[in-house]
Amino acid sequence: MTSTAAASSTEILVLANHIGGAWAPSGARDALDDRDPATGDLLARVPLSTAGDVDTAVTAARAGATAWRATSPLRRARAVMALREVLNAHRDEVAELVARDMGKTLADATAEVGRGIEACEAAMAMPHLLKGENLEGVATGVDVELIRQPVGVVAAITPFNFPAMIPLWFLPYAVAAGNAFILKPSEQDPLAGARIVELANSVDLFPPGLINLVHGAHDVVNGLLDHPGVDAISFVGSAKTARYVAQRATANGKRVQALGGAKNSMVVMPDADPALMVGGVMGSAFGAAGQRCLAGSIAVLVGTEAQQDAARDRIVAAAAALRTGAGLDPDTDVCPVVSPQARERLVSDIDQAEADGATVALDGRGDAGPGGCTLGPTVLDHVPAEHRVVVDELFGPVLTLVRATDLAEAIDLVNASRYGNSSVIFTESGGAARAYRYAVEAGMVGVNIGVAAPVAWFPFAGWKDSIDGDLHANGRDAVEFYTRKKVVTSRWSA
Ligand code: NAD
Repeated sequence: MTSTAAASSTEILVLANHIGGAWAPSGARDALDDRDPATGDLLARVPLSTAGDVDTAVTAARAGATAWRATSPLRRARAVMALREVLNAHRDEVAELVARDMGKTLADATAEVGRGIEACEAAMAMPHLLKGENLEGVATGVDVELIRQPVGVVAAITPFNFPAMIPLWFLPYAVAAGNAFILKPSEQDPLAGARIVELANSVDLFPPGLINLVHGAHDVVNGLLDHPGVDAISFVGSAKTARYVAQRATANGKRVQALGGAKNSMVVMPDADPALMVGGVMGSAFGAAGQRCLAGSIAVLVGTEAQQDAARDRIVAAAAALRTGAGLDPDTDVCPVVSPQARERLVSDIDQAEADGATVALDGRGDAGPGGCTLGPTVLDHVPAEHRVVVDELFGPVLTLVRATDLAEAIDLVNASRYGNSSVIFTESGGAARAYRYAVEAGMVGVNIGVAAPVAWFPFAGWKDSIDGDLHANGRDAVEFYTRKKVVTSRWSA
């Protein structure tokens, strides 16, 4: 596991930064523990890097950016092709790092790495995507052309729940567009991100200093947000942090896209195909232990009381049959949550809902497991309106049932959320699906799909408080975000 390259021989597990093309020990005095959620084993210590470390990385990136900008878009695309190949060759190894460090199942982790590789495939089209516009003869002898140039140095600040895919939402597009890149991975599970940066640096088409890594937590984020040598910030995390990052980056004159939290609803119409509905709801609510930004954490059961109860019974029976365990156990459906603190918070939310009158239709509060992070699938019914478990993101395997008599009422319930990341509908009616697609306030919509994650060639992000900034991740939005437009007006005599 070379990505755990040690910063010193006395503390063999302290991670190093990767700056200027080489491992660089952090000047940090303090480090955080990074543990396997399934076992509690200490995997590494994550240095709380210093302002000096951030400055060194930015200096390296600025030097890398200058040379890289002059490299042709074709060569840059070839470098991303090579990155795609090296990631593909190490797909299983990176997936295992994800499963061990974040906790999700190996199948889920492998799919995550696959999604990251697809972002490289999409970014390979950069020579096409960078092409500008022109208009000949706007006046006598005068032509106008729009060209796109890189913004310079991009820093990506990423969350714990997709430690490989989310860094790869940003890295390939940023460098293909001609920028240098600094990754600040989540301090909770930085191993996959570190390995990806190491693998990227093994591609000799990328100059040293182009792709850098700085470990740490809030101070490193603040250092990047305040550093005048950073031009753009791509952030993914909770809504509160997204708002903070967006405001501080903007105050410092930086371009920012900050993708935040979610509270996604799944509308279950009475005519839904039972197998599609149950499979979709299980994967969405309980896959990755509900720790996806696209996780459905509300099921809106639509119809008569009898129809609502029938849907509830199907959901509860299927959830009760899911197996909870370690992500590396091939029989596991529901992995541990990321930390004992996350489990405690979730248990306290379930306790509070119960105390406030909710029915715990399925109770996952049992044995916390060897790592203290195990929480079984939990279903809450008859929850008081406006309760925290209905309104706020819990980010765990907790599904809250809400009831509506018809589609219009369901849409109103969904749109009442301050979030608008994703929403899905299960129905066999094209008319209902179409009405839902039209009216729902969300950036990513699924029809008979539990986790409506757009493929890398499309933009990925939500609406409302699920994003600060305009431009989504991936797709053409990535090209917009990672380039500046310049319009040149020229006069030449005949
Ligand atoms: P988080 O906000 O706690 O952390 C994200 C990053 O921000 C980390 O790198 C962390 O070090 C940094 N950070 C956290 N608090 C900070 C602070 N006060 N000051 C400076 N930096 C800070 O998020 P998380 O718990 O790692 O990730 C889960 C969250 O991410 C969920 O809310 C989830 O919905 C969201 N998410 C959103 C999307 C999306 O596409 N919208 C995708 C994945 C995850």
